Amino acid sequence: MGVLSQLGLGLAKTREGLLGAIRRLLPGSRKITPELCEELEAALLSADVGAASVSVLMEAVRESVRQAGEVDASSVRAVLKKVMTERLRAGERGQAPFGNGASPPSLPHVVLLVGVNGVGKTTTAGKLAGQFVKAGKRVVLVAGDTFRAAAGEQLEIWGRRVGADVIRHQAGGDPAAVAYDGVVAALARKADIVLVDTAGRLHTKSNLMEELRKVKRTLGKAMPGAPHDVLLVLDATVGQNGLAQARQFHEAIGVTGVALTKLDGTARGGIVLSIAGDLGLPVRYVGVGEGVEDLQAFDPEAFVEALLGEPEES
Ligand code: GDP
Repeated sequence: MGVLSQLGLGLAKTREGLLGAIRRLLPGSRKITPELCEELEAALLSADVGAASVSVLMEAVRESVRQAGEVDASSVRAVLKKVMTERLRAGERGQAPFGNGASPPSLPHVVLLVGVNGVGKTTTAGKLAGQFVKAGKRVVLVAGDTFRAAAGEQLEIWGRRVGADVIRHQAGGDPAAVAYDGVVAALARKADIVLVDTAGRLHTKSNLMEELRKVKRTLGKAMPGAPHDVLLVLDATVGQNGLAQARQFHEAIGVTGVALTKLDGTARGGIVLSIAGDLGLPVRYVGVGEGVEDLQAFDPEAFVEALLGEPEES
């Protein structure tokens, strides 16, 4: 239950917002009025559940009220849970988070981490490395953020801390070159996982996507088929802005999954629904704190339970 309660703690703010609204709106059993619908809709939107998901959720609530002829807090919660889980599962498209369960088809499994500055890329790379090492994998971390000297140092510290190799060039170097070296080193060392950190900011913004495309192409030259995953790291606290970032990165380089960080600091955890439900990108990991264990493989059921489960359970 550790995982659930940790996730529950991380989602406490979002949960309070949603459950608070549901409880306030629906004391006892009564017909759902347009005002109640509006307030519930507003609560969902302010938790950053995207517009498309909100209209699907609200339609399901209205339909259940039509069928039952009445409404109460627990039935609304049940409908929201069911539909949210369905939408999150659809976003997943049946993919398991890499490194969890089945062994990857090709070794090493190369993961390119992308995202704007400050979202938690380096931290996520470090946490993932820690979890894979703990699971008995050999991990190579690649310091591809050569723009920010501190990012390389930060990655070295993570590497030492969790027992992963770190491949790093001097600051200001070519990120594609260090990415190439990282994969070559990983092949030579028979590593299982390569995690390539990248810059989130350059001198000019338009260059970033170009550079990331070059890093991606170069990984493929070092090892055909690489990168096997492009993990977009998004900061949950920036809300709908994160969706614009997701679209941009997805169009530019193709994203295979999302790691959503800092869910612990926000009442806007509904952003998960926006990413999975509205954009159709699978959420693979959620960050609910700064420790290694605070990055969790995303599980729709556990997430929805943590968000809307029976209040007595928490
Ligand atoms: P980068 O620029 O994308 O590489 O971002 P960093 O990895 O340097 O992270 C920026 C800050 O966010 C650091 O202070 C991290 O400790 C913090 N951070 C990352 N993930 C999480 C999370 O899930 N929860 C919280 N509370 N902080 C996080």
